Amino acid sequence: MVETSHIYYGTIVHTLSVKNLEIIQQAVLVVSNGIIVKLDRNVKDIDAYISSASCTNYVLHRLGEHEFLIPGLVDTHAHAPQYVFAGSGMDLPLMDWLNTYTFPSESKFKDEQYAQDAYAKTVHRFLRNGTTTCSWFATIHLAACKRLVDTIHDLGQRAYVGKVNMDQNSPDYYVEASTQASLDDTRLFIDYTKAKAGHDRLITPVVTPRFAVSCSTPLMRGLADLAKEYRLPIQSHLCENPDEIKFACSLFPDCKNYTDIYQQHGLLGPDTYMAHCVHMTDDEINLLATTQTGVAHCANSNFSLQSGVCDVQRLLSHGIKVGLGTDVAGGFSPSILDAIRSGFWASKMKKVIERDMHGNSDYVCLQPSELLFLATLGGAQVLGLQDLIGNFVEGKAFDALWIDADRGNVDLIGDLTIFQKLEKFLFNGSADNILHVYVQGRRVSGVPDDENDLASSGDTLNHGVALDHTTKPSI
Ligand SMILES: [Zn+2]
Repeated sequence: MVETSHIYYGTIVHTLSVKNLEIIQQAVLVVSNGIIVKLDRNVKDIDAYISSASCTNYVLHRLGEHEFLIPGLVDTHAHAPQYVFAGSGMDLPLMDWLNTYTFPSESKFKDEQYAQDAYAKTVHRFLRNGTTTCSWFATIHLAACKRLVDTIHDLGQRAYVGKVNMDQNSPDYYVEASTQASLDDTRLFIDYTKAKAGHDRLITPVVTPRFAVSCSTPLMRGLADLAKEYRLPIQSHLCENPDEIKFACSLFPDCKNYTDIYQQHGLLGPDTYMAHCVHMTDDEINLLATTQTGVAHCANSNFSLQSGVCDVQRLLSHGIKVGLGTDVAGGFSPSILDAIRSGFWASKMKKVIERDMHGNSDYVCLQPSELLFLATLGGAQVLGLQDLIGNFVEGKAFDALWIDADRGNVDLIGDLTIFQKLEKFLFNGSADNILHVYVQGRRVSGVPDDENDLASSGDTLNHGVALDHTTKPSI
């Protein structure tokens, strides 16, 4: 049987680097087996293009006037069990917040059925918001962690999933029985996840020491060994809050600073990424740069937990990989659009803080195109997936969002450029503007089918989804 190709015709917006946004009009994107096999520009006549092409079996998807494709959004840091209380309990700073809200809530995931129900809603919600790739923290419970993997597998998200490790400085009701038990369960989780991922390998286990405070030296060393043995990525938290930093450093007095704790335990490197990195000395920044460790920038969380304002430009200027994270539920929103907006505010806030007595500041704020980069290709780089996802380069997987900028909460008034429509979506848009969500070519979420049918008819919505689903004969 001949594989059906999908041909997308219309406007494409993506980034090639942090400084290079590309808008392609009259683009033709050909997807086969979930992979982008061709990208052509300025194709005036799609019918003529198709009749001269060699595809034998295809479906043509035409994007409407206010529609465009962007790469799927990448969330480099989210806690799946915490979605349960996202948007509540935001009155406390990190360490109190963990003890008052987070640990009691996460401990409920001992109940496998509860976990399964919660995870189904969580992953569904993230996909609906356009997060095609997510790096998840789960909990310490092996059975519940497996249910998260099952859920992600069933719903079709690309994901890194971590069983959380905690063997010290944790409440009695939410701590692993022993260091060895923590390592043993992690190995079982890795084996389970790798087997579940199967051939398409959308899901990858990620070694996940919660943070240095809750992990002993033998545990961190053992986890570093596991990551090495299985060649897996590592994720954790770093320099989020002044009290946390003080506590972590007091536990490891032989280490030069918080970042050095992870370094001394073999946990930094090109396959490692750390959430936050808000309060970093120059030595720590240099250590991240020399080890090629990435950073998940979670501005909503940094504001909500009063942690501080991360200086993304400082990280980028040292060549450090940076992506965006929702950090649900330290951050209250499951949407990377929100991470773009809070990242935008953090950057503006940095400039405000740095003003001198005359109101001047040389600080250069992040631009919308740079924020789109962080939300897509930047996140892919943090996860080591830059050769697979992040933009529409030929040979990459088709992880994409089909955006209609003229829907939901967005009004397009007058003549707007494509870039202005993109900005409107980034700052005023919502899941309502995301018509289709694709992971490796497969539609995994989007507007509900009934609404989609209406859109396809073009009768009810002004600029509906102009889909031409007719399978053409061989040409
Ligand atoms: Zn976190």
